[in-house]
Amino acid sequence: MGKITGFMEFERIEEGYKPVPERLKHYKEFVIGLTPAQAKDQSARCMDCGTPFCNSGCPVNNIIPDFNDLVFNDQWHNALTVLHSTNNFPEFTGRICPAPCEAACVVNFNGDAVGIKSIEHAIIDRGWAEGWVVPQPPTKKTGKKVAVIGAGPAGMAAAQQLARVGHEVTVFEKNDRVGGLLRYGIPDFKMEKIHIDRRVEQMQAEGVVFKTGVLVGNWPKDTKVTNWAKETISAEQLKKEFDAVLLSGGAEQSRDLPVPGRDLSGVHFAMEFLPQQNKIVAGDKVKDQLRADGKHVIVIGGGDTGSDCVGTSTRHGAASVTQFEVMPQPPEHENKAMIWPYWPLKLRTSSSHEEGAEKGVLEREFAISTKEFIGQNGKITGLKTVRVEMKDGKLTEVAGTEKEYPADMVLLAMGFTNPVATVLDAFGVDKDARGNARAHSEEGGYITNVPKVFAAGDMRRGQSLVVWAIREGRQAARTIDQYLMGESELPR
Ligand SMILES: Cc1cc2nc3c(=O)[nH]c(=O)nc-3n(C[C@H](O)[C@H](O)[C@H](O)COP(=O)(O)OP(=O)(O)OC[C@H]3O[C@@H](n4cnc5c(N)ncnc54)[C@H](O)[C@@H]3O)c2cc1C
Ligand code: SF4
Repeated sequence: MGKITGFMEFERIEEGYKPVPERLKHYKEFVIGLTPAQAKDQSARCMDCGTPFCNSGCPVNNIIPDFNDLVFNDQWHNALTVLHSTNNFPEFTGRICPAPCEAACVVNFNGDAVGIKSIEHAIIDRGWAEGWVVPQPPTKKTGKKVAVIGAGPAGMAAAQQLARVGHEVTVFEKNDRVGGLLRYGIPDFKMEKIHIDRRVEQMQAEGVVFKTGVLVGNWPKDTKVTNWAKETISAEQLKKEFDAVLLSGGAEQSRDLPVPGRDLSGVHFAMEFLPQQNKIVAGDKVKDQLRADGKHVIVIGGGDTGSDCVGTSTRHGAASVTQFEVMPQPPEHENKAMIWPYWPLKLRTSSSHEEGAEKGVLEREFAISTKEFIGQNGKITGLKTVRVEMKDGKLTEVAGTEKEYPADMVLLAMGFTNPVATVLDAFGVDKDARGNARAHSEEGGYITNVPKVFAAGDMRRGQSLVVWAIREGRQAARTIDQYLMGESELPR
């Protein structure tokens, strides 16, 4: 702990945002990180609480009190070493993690949490700026070959860990670029893709080989999940050529809304809409890009993906954006005595919501359910809704609350149900009740029913967070290393 009285002396400072009118003109990041002096004061708020709940609240178990102390004492390089000891990619989490650590912070119990995420962000950005983030190639090679299928954060974290202990790692990715949903789900205004590209370069220097545009197994014809593969490779071939295989293909199957009118043109999955914009930002050409310009857009789904559709539609210049959430509006503030140190259910207002509100185009509707899409000449013109309420633990329609909303475009952002099954089927991997790869995550876990085949990330745990994907990738890497070598020095 840097300063014993820091939590009483300093207020929490939030990272700044560039003004809405300015940031709506582009897709670049707009968060203004803490200055070193601000980060020092913020780290001083860490209070030597004795049991740092933040550490277990963080899925990768970042050693938060230690890096706070080091920042306070101006030992930034050491702070970065501590951060990297548990998290391969703090520049991802420092930008887009919802920060469950802060919900668990002891100062949060009756005050404002330490700004852990903003300190993490400051440490890693300084690390890159100072040239402290360098490749860490292995000192010896093991001669073992590992295939990683899927280059999202789970696959990237696993590949980096495995390469650093000397295994020959090849990552197969069906899309044309590395990064998974970080690349083609999360918009650039939340995380620019240079952060992925820099890590890819670092990992290549550590020995990781990335093969993009390569689909493992086959692909269902009727799915709208992105697949830009130019070649395929079979599960059998991989099992023959590699000593271990990690399945980290994500849970890409979007939840659908099969009500009348679903096949009208203008009704799309969020993951048809968002990747196209990210491709445009990357300099690609997209034929007939789905755009929201001048349209009345309805986003169905109140989570992160929905919020990203709001931010992208607002940037396109939508005439209006209405976001539906089927659950009732949560309270603005949680009852900390009841919920701390766990993740609270409360109303969350993202930067995209703020932009839409300031521009005067956004409405958020809660406790609303869509009964039908309506249209003319095959095109969406609106939808029919009804209010819902919780009754006996079930969402129930409220009679007499039917309403029609005009819409030129509807984006379905209701989450993801499961992985696209073909890759699991190709390997003969058992699935759990939700269709995810069956592989438990306890110590020595991530093992599937198929010899030498492992699974991690959203493909194993279902739709989740980047920080969980990183954790699972790291832990699966340790299991694989143990399996290949009989022991492992990789951290748990
Ligand atoms: C729009 C959106 C916004 C989000 N916002 C946030 C956020 O703000 N914060 C947060 O923490 N999380 C967020 N998430 C969730 C987060 O992105 C995911 O939980 C995380 O990326 C999962 O990582 P993963 O590596 O398990 O899988 P993914 O990121 O899904 O990566 C899997 C990769 O495997 C590839 N693949 C699949 N099958 C094959 C195959 N057969 N052959 C070859 N390659 C294959 C896919 O193309 C993909 O690139 C968001 C998700 C979405 C969709
Ligand atoms: S990774 Fe997320 S939970 Fe962990 S310290 Fe960073 S912001 Fe907090």
